[in-house]
Amino acid sequence: MNMRTLNSKSPTASICAAMKILVIGSGGREHALVWKLAQSPHATQLWCAPGNAGILQERLAKNGSTVECINIGAEDLPKLLAFAQEKQVDFTVVGPDNPLALGIVDLFQNHGLKIWGVNQKAAQFEASKVFSQKFMEKYGIPTAAAGTFSDVVAAKRFCATLGGKCVVKADGLALGKGVLICHDQAEAERAVDEIMVSKAFGAAGARVVIQEFLEGIEVSLHALCDGTTAKLFPTSQDHKRALDGDQGLNTGGMGTYSPTPFLTDTQLADAAKMILDPFMLGCVAEGIDYRGLLYPGIMLTKNGPKVLEFNARFGDPETQVYLTRLESDLVELLDASASGMLANYEFKWKSEASVCVIMASGGYPGNYPKGKVITGLAAANRLPGTKVFHAGTVMKDDQIVTSGGRVLGVTALGKDLRTAQAAAYAAVETIHFEGAHFRRDIAAKAL
Ligand code: AMP
Repeated sequence: MNMRTLNSKSPTASICAAMKILVIGSGGREHALVWKLAQSPHATQLWCAPGNAGILQERLAKNGSTVECINIGAEDLPKLLAFAQEKQVDFTVVGPDNPLALGIVDLFQNHGLKIWGVNQKAAQFEASKVFSQKFMEKYGIPTAAAGTFSDVVAAKRFCATLGGKCVVKADGLALGKGVLICHDQAEAERAVDEIMVSKAFGAAGARVVIQEFLEGIEVSLHALCDGTTAKLFPTSQDHKRALDGDQGLNTGGMGTYSPTPFLTDTQLADAAKMILDPFMLGCVAEGIDYRGLLYPGIMLTKNGPKVLEFNARFGDPETQVYLTRLESDLVELLDASASGMLANYEFKWKSEASVCVIMASGGYPGNYPKGKVITGLAAANRLPGTKVFHAGTVMKDDQIVTSGGRVLGVTALGKDLRTAQAAAYAAVETIHFEGAHFRRDIAAKAL
């Protein structure tokens, strides 16, 4: 490892000029992370476990070398550790929530390896909705009126106090499916039974959080944290439902754009004060060393912003729009986050807007076929300001084929949202695979 520093004025002056980096995960978020990390002059070698067909095609700006995908699952902690030790990886970056909740950060740190992401204690904010709800109430973070329950009768009684108009949430990780929106008491009781009695989400449903139903506009906030400091990103908005006009089933996210017009800079700064300041103070008070990404889901209600939930990692597909807008060096930012050095760090963002349209397999979020050949990718990537991030793709017989529900995140920058939206959809039109499904109204709300 070459210890020469690149920029002695940088707050991350200790960062190495030659870094071997391992990224963990295989989705669109991880492709965006790899793509941005590969542009850094600090990165000399990059692996991704397990990665995808798009990640395989990335090249490092510093030396033109390829990114290597290694066949180790994101949750196979012992193998990931052994790989990092064998290759003398300098810095590991974790994308998905599961390895964080399993304690990958603690494991790597206990073996003297530098890693970016939240530790197991901090991952509880995402892994347990009961934990998050109690924390928000204790530290005065604006959220929905709510109760937490392990008893079915008490849970149903609480739903009745809200007139049955409520949201019943399984406590644990349930692949984004453990949240049931209810319109009346009968629906609420069925939701409680489904989660707590039928155990539709297994052990994740041993406890529930029941929140009042909030009306408003939903936005995503992202902040990079280093244990004491939290630095807020610009705003973005996801589109969770499968179909245009926010119809159809909930998905992992069908598209994003940034910035959103729904929060002015002043409102964003106010939201940061109301949410991030008590969050970081609470973490310090509870002995939680929160270093990594904090992604609160927010409802902008007529009584101000309210936190619906905390995620403890980058959003997918928020990452795709954020990283195409980010001008700063991502290696330096993540290193500063892991090293407790964010306080003096300036984030530089492009003034352009970014739009990401997810192309999904036909049938998603239900059952869908795999192995469909994808064409038009190279032509799409040649369009100005456009980057196609891969999510569910693999190489098969020299062809790129579909391998997941969300297949591609077609992302474009433009001088404003309308231009970025037109560019993203122009790129979508050049890409083909059998049964491809995408929403045609990403960013339309903002226009
Ligand atoms: P969560 O995983 O807690 O963010 O919930 C998933 C989705 O359910 C959110 O993105 C919202 O669209 C919706 N949701 C969650 N909590 C509430 C709430 N209290 N009121 C209205 N909608 C909610």
